[in-house]
Amino acid sequence: MAKILCVLYDDPVNGHPKSYARDTIPELSQYPDGQSLPTPREIDFKPGELLGSVSGELGLRNFLEAAGHQLVVTSDKSGPDSVFEKELPDADVVISQPFWPAYLTRERLQKAKNLKLAITAGIGSDHVNLDEAMKKHITVAEVTWCNSVSVAEHTVMMILALVRNYIPSYQVVVNKGWNIADCVERSYDLEGMTVGIVASGRIGLGVLRRLKPFDVKLHYTDRHRLPAEMEEEIGLTFHPELESLLKISDVVSLHCPLHPETEHMIDEEMIRKMKRGTYIVNTARGKLCDRDAIARALESGHLAGYAGDVWFPQPAPKDHPWRSMPFHGMTPHTSGTSLSAQARYAAGVREILENWLEGQPIRSEYLIVDKGQLAGTGAHSYSAGDATRGSE
Ligand code: NAD
Repeated sequence: MAKILCVLYDDPVNGHPKSYARDTIPELSQYPDGQSLPTPREIDFKPGELLGSVSGELGLRNFLEAAGHQLVVTSDKSGPDSVFEKELPDADVVISQPFWPAYLTRERLQKAKNLKLAITAGIGSDHVNLDEAMKKHITVAEVTWCNSVSVAEHTVMMILALVRNYIPSYQVVVNKGWNIADCVERSYDLEGMTVGIVASGRIGLGVLRRLKPFDVKLHYTDRHRLPAEMEEEIGLTFHPELESLLKISDVVSLHCPLHPETEHMIDEEMIRKMKRGTYIVNTARGKLCDRDAIARALESGHLAGYAGDVWFPQPAPKDHPWRSMPFHGMTPHTSGTSLSAQARYAAGVREILENWLEGQPIRSEYLIVDKGQLAGTGAHSYSAGDATRGSE
């Protein structure tokens, strides 16, 4: 019988919701590239419910306990006295979310003597030391596609919010004001701007497709170039180098995973190469950017705005400079955990667990590390190494 240790974010401050704003969520038939949605044999939850916080338990308890397994769910994940660290040494499976990551550093993986499978309830497994997972033959899997469209939608919202100066204008209304000039002195149209997308994977491509009707100039870079027909259909210009993309962009949006090649890819030097007045949106990972260089560039006016929902570490400390820097549109890590996305990642986690517990293979598109090496989506999108440094 297996012990499954699941780390989820806290419940709403007023408790688990008793009712929801909407009664249903749309049923999707497949993902945009034709991949099938998660295929668990059964689910024990109603899609549209809050599943991602501790009381939601990803809808896993009945299924696991009926089969005789032990499920421990906690949000207490930081420091040596945390429930997570105490329960880790004999856990067979860890489930963690990028929104509330239980960092699996080298030290923690060395303590986790029984650990065989680390599941990401979402996308992005940089909270696991992938080098150590490879060494210890721990499988790392995530629910590929589950929230890629959720993040693409959120990204477009954030680009528009920054360029059009939405958040300060909303604040004027909340503060009972009507001073239009204050709202528009930093407000522009997106139309005609050059948007540079860093990484054209599932999310990056989703953002490119959604921005096409805005009549912007779409540029991108990726280590895997898109097919020529797709570039032509969407109207894309490819840059083999990040630097040339950054130099010409009015808006830069980041969509690559965090791994040693991409850590701090946007640093002081890269920011200096961008045009004055560039906006950056980062819904990928906080550590893609040098934290203090971003704050300084907003203060000096070199950057016109920065928005995103990803920080390092998470939760962000109260004094994190991105909470107080000027012209930001930050949220906590929410874009990939809408109620719609939760239904998909909960079902995907259940599918992975069903397969693993029965000794069946996990779909290769869900795999990041398997059999001691990068595998599936991991082999396509990551480089080997560790990006958990500093999470302590
Ligand atoms: P994906 O695997 O489909 O795409 C990743 C792309 O990044 C690939 O095309 C890959 O070639 C490219 N890439 C990797 N290294 C690169 C490099 N050094 N330079 C240029 N391109 C590089 O993944 P996805 O579904 O699009 O997700 C991307 C990332 O977004 C995730 O790894 C995760 O970090 C983040 N994410 C955030 C949220 C959120 O809630 N904010 C949710 C989901 C995913």
